Amino acid sequence: FEPWMQASASARQSLETDLRAALALNKVELRKAMVVDQFKIYYQPQVSLPDMQLTGFEALVRWQHPVRGMINPDDFIPLAEEIGLIGLLGDWVMHTACRTAAAWPLLSNGRALQVAVNVSPIQLRERRALVASIADALAQSGLDAARLEVEITESALIGDACETLRSIKHLGVTLALDDFGTGFSSLSQLAHYPFDRLKIDRSFVRNLPDGADLTSADATHARWMIQAIASLGSGLDMCTIAEGVETIAQAEMVRAAGVTDIQGFLISRPVPEGDVLALVRRLDAA
Ligand code: C2E
Ligand code: CA
Ligand code: CA
Ligand code: CA
Repeated sequence: FEPWMQASASARQSLETDLRAALALNKVELRKAMVVDQFKIYYQPQVSLPDMQLTGFEALVRWQHPVRGMINPDDFIPLAEEIGLIGLLGDWVMHTACRTAAAWPLLSNGRALQVAVNVSPIQLRERRALVASIADALAQSGLDAARLEVEITESALIGDACETLRSIKHLGVTLALDDFGTGFSSLSQLAHYPFDRLKIDRSFVRNLPDGADLTSADATHARWMIQAIASLGSGLDMCTIAEGVETIAQAEMVRAAGVTDIQGFLISRPVPEGDVLALVRRLDAA
């Protein structure tokens, strides 16, 4: 079930036509164009615990539609995947995010900021194209590979995904397993995949109590799950990042559970590229 499927066939058809038009440039032109008119990348900060040190940003694409306004990725990524345009869009996101991050300043502690880029399961199936896209984005932007993190959603771990992941890892980037806990990947396989960190799905964090319902069954369950994932991560030498952290109470609970990093509205919503520097200054000084 996707929101756009609910819309009438003609509304979906028009969105498809618009998406094709918005991505009509060929691949080379897309890479050169710093701004493809209708697509924008927003950046959401990630911080380490317990000190809330800024470590980097996740790149999240948006479609600024000329008539419908801002469209969220959940409403057009599935369409792009279905009509075969996700490779082109993903390639543009990868190139643009790397080029943008290459210009970010060092933090006052001397560290460089990371940028995390989402890769669709469809892209993962085209191993050569994906590896070439990442290598090319690194080469063209001059971004140090260690500053790029590639996010793969747990549901993509089927078939020969492991080989592809190794090829990506070979470029020197780091790998994160997104939406962890929702995709039923086999725990016995997990140790064989070259992931550097597990991203604990927002559904677990959302169920953490925010004061009133401290003892609800959902809350107890969520807390146990987060603790289990945190110790699984530390046992496998992986960092863990909790996404969707909205309250101080949730941040404290995931810290107590042993989670190493957080991301969420508590720190900041995703911001447009132009607002990143101000956010870096604010979080770096905090
Ligand atoms: P995701 O990778 O799980 O990204 C996290 C989503 O949670 C983002 O939604 C983010 O805005 C939202 N979020 C972050 N913190 C909070 C919070 O504290 N509370 C709440 N309620 N939400 C929070 P967004 O930007 O709408 O992206 C949705 C999904 O679209 C992403 O989920 C990702 O799967 C996909 N996506 C976004 N950009 C790309 C892209 O460039 N390529 C691909 N293939 N997928 C993308
Ligand atoms: Ca993600
Ligand atoms: Ca996620
Ligand atoms: Ca998600």
